[in-house]
Amino acid sequence: MSGDVRPGGFFLPGPTEVDPAVLEAQVAPVFGHRGPEAEALVGAVDRGLRAAFGTARPVLLGTMSATGFMEAAIRCGVKRRVLCLVNGAFSARFARIARDCGREVETLEVPWGRAVDPDEVAARLAAVEVDAVTVVHSETSTGALNPVREIAAAVARHPEVLVLVDSVTGLGGVEMAADAWGLDAVITGSQKALAMPPGLAFAAVSDRLLARAATLPDRGFYLDLVRYADQAARGQTPTTPALTLLQAARAQLGRMERETLRARWDRHARMAERCHRRVEGWRRDHGLDVAVLAPPGERSPTVTAIRVPPGRTGPELAEAVRNRGFVIGAGYGPLKNETVRVGHMGDHTEAELDAVLDALDAALRTPGGG
Ligand SMILES: *Cc1c(COP(=O)(O)O)cnc(C)c1O
Repeated sequence: MSGDVRPGGFFLPGPTEVDPAVLEAQVAPVFGHRGPEAEALVGAVDRGLRAAFGTARPVLLGTMSATGFMEAAIRCGVKRRVLCLVNGAFSARFARIARDCGREVETLEVPWGRAVDPDEVAARLAAVEVDAVTVVHSETSTGALNPVREIAAAVARHPEVLVLVDSVTGLGGVEMAADAWGLDAVITGSQKALAMPPGLAFAAVSDRLLARAATLPDRGFYLDLVRYADQAARGQTPTTPALTLLQAARAQLGRMERETLRARWDRHARMAERCHRRVEGWRRDHGLDVAVLAPPGERSPTVTAIRVPPGRTGPELAEAVRNRGFVIGAGYGPLKNETVRVGHMGDHTEAELDAVLDALDAALRTPGGG
């Protein structure tokens, strides 16, 4: 790594670039977490997040990364056996967490880069008895977007089956309607499409999940969603939250409210389309052997995984882009060498995206790196 990253040039698929005003909002004297300042802070964050989640329920605020609430959703939402929809590394992680928590795991696997077909979910649910389904909204390892709404509709034919959704790179960048779509847990983290500093996890959970959780004996203490929900109903958190990070969250939610969620989702859709068009242009006009990994219709608006030409690798191209003053991700897990990933999420603009794609274009046309 060498040289400075340009402002507006940090396109890692998480953590994402944070606006300086949001970072500065963290700098203030410390105050007590049970006093009026904390209550006002938690109230403001809750209000902003309810809109982003599409829920009328208090949003649970966790001082941990998003994976913490994924584990909480398993501990509190799965009785015995869960069907995990696996189409990449983060959906595989959801299955791993369930196994590590002692649950029986069925998987429905589709090739990495593809989305899960709701009809396949319906067919599997007709064949196996499970009490919950896990799904990752936007698979950050591949850039595929799962049709969460349609999958939830397929699951809804089995009233005892809960739907647990990781929307870590979805929420804030693509439409989410937790209540209207009948989702039982929706989880995100501060540092992805919401463009806040890392360190907070947020979750919306349904009454049916909480009712089930109350019957499960091994929920533990720190990850007990019943305790989070009881406290959230009173505008509190169960333990001392990261107050400084909540100040950043409040500032960012204010900025998001001014932009409006609809405009934010549209901006992400435009950035994704621009990214896909440029990759297709490199292929068509420059004969570069590159391609967007996910097929049209199955692509996430927040992250694009791009297949790199033979002879090039993800880490080497990411490094070449880094030397031009921009940050993108190498591939993730088994796709590390085969792909690079551009995280066009958070507060980025189309002009900023063009600049990072210019750098990637230049790096692609300079064989041997440089
Ligand atoms: C980043 C990410 C996670 C993990 O988030 P942490 O905050 O690092 O725990 C889980 N799922 C998806 C889809 C992600 O992109």
